[in-house]
Amino acid sequence: MPQQRRHDMGAGGTCFCPKCDYRGAHQSGIPCQDERCPRCGAKLLREGSYHDQLLQQKREA
Ligand SMILES: [Zn+2]
Repeated sequence: MPQQRRHDMGAGGTCFCPKCDYRGAHQSGIPCQDERCPRCGAKLLREGSYHDQLLQQKREA
């Protein structure tokens, strides 16, 4: 089944920390990966991104 492609990754969305599950609003113009978790200092990931999907798959396995 065709998966809808999303090209609007630039606006809105959520950044999260893969280590402590901190979540924060994504700031437009700043990649999540350029931001640091205020709790533990890890690099944040974009929710729903390729890396996020990899993480989910690892957790399910
Ligand atoms: Zn964290």
